[in-house]
Amino acid sequence: MTGSTLTIRGGRVICPGTGRDERADVLVQDGRIAAVGADIAGAADATINATGLVVCPGLIDLHVHLREPGAEHKETIASGTRAAIRGGFTTVCAMPNTTPAPDSAKSVAAISARIERSAWCRVGVIGAATARNDRETLTDFAALRDAGCVAVSDDAFMLRTREQRREALHRCAEAGLLFIAHAEAEELSAGGVMHEGVLSRELGVRGQHPETELRALEEWREAWDGPGRPPLHIAHLSTAAGVALLRDWTDGPTAETAPHYLTLTDMAVGLHGANAKMNPPLRTEADRVALLEAVRDGVVGIVATDHAPHTIEEKLAGLTDSPFGIVGLETALGVTLAALCDDAGMALPEVLRTLTSAPAKLLGLPQGRIEVGAPADLLVFDPEAIWWVDAGEFESRGRNTPFDGWELPGVVAAVIAGGNVVYGREGFAHVRPEGLN
Ligand SMILES: [Zn+2]
Repeated sequence: MTGSTLTIRGGRVICPGTGRDERADVLVQDGRIAAVGADIAGAADATINATGLVVCPGLIDLHVHLREPGAEHKETIASGTRAAIRGGFTTVCAMPNTTPAPDSAKSVAAISARIERSAWCRVGVIGAATARNDRETLTDFAALRDAGCVAVSDDAFMLRTREQRREALHRCAEAGLLFIAHAEAEELSAGGVMHEGVLSRELGVRGQHPETELRALEEWREAWDGPGRPPLHIAHLSTAAGVALLRDWTDGPTAETAPHYLTLTDMAVGLHGANAKMNPPLRTEADRVALLEAVRDGVVGIVATDHAPHTIEEKLAGLTDSPFGIVGLETALGVTLAALCDDAGMALPEVLRTLTSAPAKLLGLPQGRIEVGAPADLLVFDPEAIWWVDAGEFESRGRNTPFDGWELPGVVAAVIAGGNVVYGREGFAHVRPEGLN
């Protein structure tokens, strides 16, 4: 659509970042938003009738595992970003647990070249905190920043010591880069495949102690001895105790939670087995309710999927032997709307904030807003319409979801990335949008 014009007519335009929530037209030109207002005159090259629909910034996911390079049997950059688009996302941030890992300027450049060649949406590269993810040698964060990384993380390959955490935070502060921490105290979680509770005992499997996350967060709090807010973001917050600690950590880190922690408890493991196995594990109803309240209060400002595809065979290994993780990109919008609008009673713009302007602001991205000059990354969806999840239809190579068969609100009508209509009622555009990354 670059070089041409597109008008999205008559939708409810919701931009949490600017506070806009009104019926308006959006004019897109040369990949950017050219005008927003009532009844924009003139004929465009293409028009989307958004009457009765919501028009918001394309969703942004801070936490996905795209598996390429190294585990393309689970997912590729192409399949993962198509899953993103189908779910309404126009930007995803890829975690660094790939082989090779994005741990140097050279390896980041190689991964960026793959993204350039095959991604269907924008992809931010999150650098690895340690070389080859060895959990020992911290990487050169300034070099990762210069190579284009949007953050660094120890997700899946956690830092081990307080000295490492302290050093990592100082390097992040110096480099002006965010650290995304997987908060898990291994001495309390080791070998645990689910929440340690009534059901883990009944099933006879090893559980993760309820205070695993709390202990790790305390360690991160001790590691930060600098002034002001640490350059720290907590990945996939999952417990009431974690929420409580963040509530009383003055100038503390930002945090995300995932749609599944807002909807499910460890009881889902009894129903779905390995397809409800992820790390951190699903906890109790009290934890779920505390997370809903934390998002409503803004203590947790971001919803991110932790999209973690695995093959059917890998998940058939059973609860104990299968790998951690579930897919999330194609169900996130519906599950989040069900949890935060229907269950927690939040207003739609506040819910969309957690998936658009909040992650954009945290990473300093130009997308995530609907205003003149911003990148034309847009989602058009029907918040009232209902659909049924069919994992067999996923664009992701992963089918590992506990939400298969669920009835969810929020039907995606169109997804625009860089001014290109990438997905619409008839499915995907024939050509991949280029020049996004
Ligand atoms: Zn993690």
